[in-house]
Amino acid sequence: MAKVLYEKDIQDAVLKNKKIAVIGYGSQGHAHAMNLRDSGYDVVVGLRQGKSQQKAEEDGFNVLSVAEASNQADVVMVLLPDEMQPKVYEESIKDNLEQGNALVFAHGFNIHFTQIVPPANVDVFLVAPKGPGHLVRRTFEEGAGVPALYGVHQDYTGEATAVALAYSKGIGAARAGVLETSFQEETETDLFGEQAVLCGGVTSLIKAGFETLTDAGYQPEVAYFECLHEMKLIVDLLYEGGLENMRYSISDTAQWGDFVSGQRVVDDQTKERMKSILDDIQTGSFAKGWILENQAGRPQFNAINRRENSHPIETVGRELRELMPFVKQPINAKKKDVNV
Ligand code: NDP
Ligand code: MG
Ligand code: MG
Repeated sequence: MAKVLYEKDIQDAVLKNKKIAVIGYGSQGHAHAMNLRDSGYDVVVGLRQGKSQQKAEEDGFNVLSVAEASNQADVVMVLLPDEMQPKVYEESIKDNLEQGNALVFAHGFNIHFTQIVPPANVDVFLVAPKGPGHLVRRTFEEGAGVPALYGVHQDYTGEATAVALAYSKGIGAARAGVLETSFQEETETDLFGEQAVLCGGVTSLIKAGFETLTDAGYQPEVAYFECLHEMKLIVDLLYEGGLENMRYSISDTAQWGDFVSGQRVVDDQTKERMKSILDDIQTGSFAKGWILENQAGRPQFNAINRRENSHPIETVGRELRELMPFVKQPINAKKKDVNV
């Protein structure tokens, strides 16, 4: 079993006298900056002018340009959207890294797929919380934490692992457990999970179920409840106690249906296709497509996004949720809060 480390296993002396620049103040950025400050670290925030800059200043941070923050800091944590990182790195971070500094990420994409190639004389590691930034902050304030993965890509100083662990502890992750990984494993499993299961898999399953029912003449409102709304109740049970806990709570009829029909929906051929999705991730073919799509100004992304937003399940869902104000919890308020 993978080794899980907790606060008592981690020394923080190695990070104590270092200045940390948190670049970006979005979902992850605000949580890392605040948690590190509360853990006693010297934190500056690096940003362009705009909404986040105002917010970080209101929260009492010293906000500098990305270049100036990178220049002043020993540890530079890059918490910009992944597709923006290479450009900002080239323009404002690269020339401000000094020998022995640490360049840090919360996701391995740009290093693993060589969109950012750091100089050889810095440490490069990742600390990737396994949860949205707002949860990273909220659990920290409650005295708990969100678990995280850490991994070292480049160890110039010989201290990269120790600094990565101290950073993980500083954001509160070691209260919940930190687990070692590599940039390759973190990147490939993260992309696979969101494509095949969490995002792509789930949305396609929900839509296919909804369409099957409405094509057969059932009311869209009823199909929405059965295929989308109730998903949350099931996922909460899975989260709390795995498949067994979920099956314990549902009726025996539902459980029998799960046993006999689940495998007719997701069969060996589905797994074959999952394997081909994983192949595209491992060979860099998915990454290449996404990088080119961004360079082209996202024509396909925007077209598909428009089409998806006008699917009948979205139209009926919007109307039904108006009648159910209780479903709109603050956690759903910020778009992009959950980046799996
Ligand atoms: P967000 O989109 O929430 O925040 C991005 C931040 O970057 C904003 O503060 C934005 O400021 C700033 N920004 C964007 N472009 C620039 C620019 N050109 N120059 C300076 N600042 C800029 O990002 P996330 O927190 O979601 O993601 C950050 C990293 O964390 C990514 O690598 C992601 O994969 C990783 N991650 C995210 C998780 C999550 O739950 N969100 C979970 C685990 C990892 P402005 O207001 O000016 O636009
Ligand atoms: Mg039912
Ligand atoms: Mg992801």
